[in-house]
Amino acid sequence: MDITLVPESPFRFRLDRCDPMRVPGVVFATRDLLPEAVGDKALEQVANVATLPGIVRASFAMPDVHWGYGFPIGGVAATDIDAGGVVSPGGVGFDISCGVRLLAADIDREPLAPRMRRLMDILGDTIPRGTGRGGLWKISGRAQMEKLLVAGAGYAVECDHGVPRDLDRCEDRGALAEADPSQVGQRAVDRGLQQVGSLGSGNHFLEVQVVDQVYDAGVAAAFGLHPGQVCVMIHCGSRGLGHQVCTDHVRVMDQSLRSFGIHIPDRQLACAPVVSTPGRAYLGAMAAAANYGRANRQLLTQAVRHAFTTAAGVGVDLVYDVSHNTAKIETHDVDGVSRRLCVHRKGATLALPPGHPDLPADLADHGHPVLVPGTMGTASYVMVGTVGNDAFSSAAHGAGRVWSRHQALRHVRGEALRGELESRGIAVRPSSWRGLAEEAPEAYKDVDAVARATEGAGLARLVVRLVPLGVVKG
Ligand code: 5GP
Ligand code: MN
Ligand code: MN
Repeated sequence: MDITLVPESPFRFRLDRCDPMRVPGVVFATRDLLPEAVGDKALEQVANVATLPGIVRASFAMPDVHWGYGFPIGGVAATDIDAGGVVSPGGVGFDISCGVRLLAADIDREPLAPRMRRLMDILGDTIPRGTGRGGLWKISGRAQMEKLLVAGAGYAVECDHGVPRDLDRCEDRGALAEADPSQVGQRAVDRGLQQVGSLGSGNHFLEVQVVDQVYDAGVAAAFGLHPGQVCVMIHCGSRGLGHQVCTDHVRVMDQSLRSFGIHIPDRQLACAPVVSTPGRAYLGAMAAAANYGRANRQLLTQAVRHAFTTAAGVGVDLVYDVSHNTAKIETHDVDGVSRRLCVHRKGATLALPPGHPDLPADLADHGHPVLVPGTMGTASYVMVGTVGNDAFSSAAHGAGRVWSRHQALRHVRGEALRGELESRGIAVRPSSWRGLAEEAPEAYKDVDAVARATEGAGLARLVVRLVPLGVVKG
């Protein structure tokens, strides 16, 4: 396909529809952010997604867009369930419900400073990470796993791994209702038994941060954030269980494509109508895996609480938990008609406007929190949903990669990177030198530019900027 971008505003570019696209593409970015997306073929993927049966409005790309499996990361696509709309596992990604959780500690940077080293040591010792080590909570077998897959973070809290107030600050109150554990294969369950409460590897992290700048004091206060406050950002997903669910269902969908008469430009876009046996099966399994991811972040929260109590004698509250790899059934107005849609957000965050009924009561006047991690050497942002977001209320989920892991390894050495970060006052607890190098700040786009573009495009507004004090890397 021939890709021509037409500027619609300084923050929005249109990819005109041409056959076999069913809708146009829309890329939210600035001119400075665009070449990176063009370079890695992400825009071709935006066009490919626009060919999916039932897609409505446009195939969207957030300012952090980059190349992914089938769909770009930073891609948003909604299909009309009642008009043959499909669901595609590639539109969710392998790490189902990967997401970010922000915690606010009851302490500011200065009083924590003398205890920071001890805090980092405890976190470094107690947060399971890397590929080998097991999680904080061993699940006894399939029966217990099914409870977790149905109730997500709620099941963790029910088992005393958290407090009920935590659930008030989780997207979907910590569990998607559509979970169907019977669609999660035994291999996926087996892979998940030992991994609840673990970061995993690579891009996943647990970072101690401080609020460095406040853009909207009212919203920041509602989120429980003030200048100088210490926070913890957790980024992880559904581990081996989610990966196996994706693998299993991609295979089924790949084989059923022909029976539904679906033609796709890339096999990685394997999909099935939402209203079909494979479509329903995937959505039930996907929701179950999403709930696993939410329980996982809940367990890590408890480890953070333990570390703060031990090192500094202070408590930790949940600011918010958002997933950035999901497909959700939502109702949206499309061309003046209310439609039931399957909204794929792959590397994109829900960003509901103020007043939306799905918001927690105490955030209803403000909007949905949007958590945008940057890198371990730069800033991260908290933003908030706005009115008028036509990408189905979605926003960026990070800075977005510019270098592949392979490229990063050619340019960066883990030991040197750690030394550089430590000299800037950022404590680093790596899991491997290689993993650290792959996640070097230079491997990502400029998160400040991504956050500004997200605001400029009207997807979300800036609330606070966070900077890192210490990072535990997966
Ligand atoms: P993804 O879910 O696409 O793997 O990653 C989400 C985002 O996390 C990336 O786009 C990147 O901006 C951010 N990120 C990766 N590693 C780190 C880290 O160590 N610290 C922070 N704050 N952000 C990171
Ligand atoms: Mn992930
Ligand atoms: Mn992620």
